[in-house]
Amino acid sequence: MSFDPNMQSPQQRGIGSRLIVAGLIILFGLFMFMSQSQENPVTGEKQHVSITPAQEVSLGLESAPEMAREMGGELPVSDPRTQEVQKMGNWIVNHTQAKKSPWKFEFHLLADADTVNAFALPGGQIFITWGLLKELQTEAQLAGVLSHEMGHVIERHAAQQMSKSQLGQFFILAVGTAASDSQGQGGGYNATMLASLVNQMIQLRYSRHDESEADQWGLKLMEETGYDPRAMIEVMEILKKAGGKSQTPAIFQTHPDPDLRIEQIKAYLKEHPPGPNVTEGKNLKELFRNSSVQEQQRQPSLLELLQQLQR
Ligand SMILES: [Zn+2]
Repeated sequence: MSFDPNMQSPQQRGIGSRLIVAGLIILFGLFMFMSQSQENPVTGEKQHVSITPAQEVSLGLESAPEMAREMGGELPVSDPRTQEVQKMGNWIVNHTQAKKSPWKFEFHLLADADTVNAFALPGGQIFITWGLLKELQTEAQLAGVLSHEMGHVIERHAAQQMSKSQLGQFFILAVGTAASDSQGQGGGYNATMLASLVNQMIQLRYSRHDESEADQWGLKLMEETGYDPRAMIEVMEILKKAGGKSQTPAIFQTHPDPDLRIEQIKAYLKEHPPGPNVTEGKNLKELFRNSSVQEQQRQPSLLELLQQLQR
């Protein structure tokens, strides 16, 4: 490395100029971040997002098949469980302000029966595992899970995280420049940055603030579609119970603090009491029993296949 204390000039003089370049890169990164301000098309809020809603949609569409493969594959569209998820998702989209938004909402059911999780890609690709769906009892609970994920899309949480991490990338580049003693270290930077963006989407962790916002959207969309928003509390309880059975379910890694969220949901419902006509909807357990669906074996993920090959 270049910060060798015994280093002699002229390299020592070089450090000074490299630090100036590093400082300029950081300033440029900050400038980019601050200037990338967009008004959210649904909420009107000013946000630091570097890509357009149309770019979010294509990014989501492009990465959805890869994401499904990584997570062990999707159940086919002909499966009645997939149809139930898609029917519910489309119902919410068509009966709420989500329809007027620039995002393209599509709903996927992942075959994985062991993982309890749901997540959204930027632009509106939404996934739920069979492992979570089979724990849900009512349509209102399914509406709660899907509307929460739609909330992440509407609030552009993934795109915001990407902008923040882009700022982080500038810092990394700046540090790299300050520490490098040779030219041309920036080669292939764009490809690396894109690869790390996709990787970040897989490992995306939302903040508490993001979770609360998504929960509030979940409650709003549920009530707009006529489903009882109190079912969101039941969802949290189901998740907690699932967490007791095994180790931490995957959903708590991406969606932390169920107890805190239950408190916030209760506080919200106190301020916005649900109307008299909300419904729990059909019983999902009966629906799936009647359609005599069978547990599908989970396909190994790409990573697991690679690990098997290495053995
Ligand atoms: Zn969430």
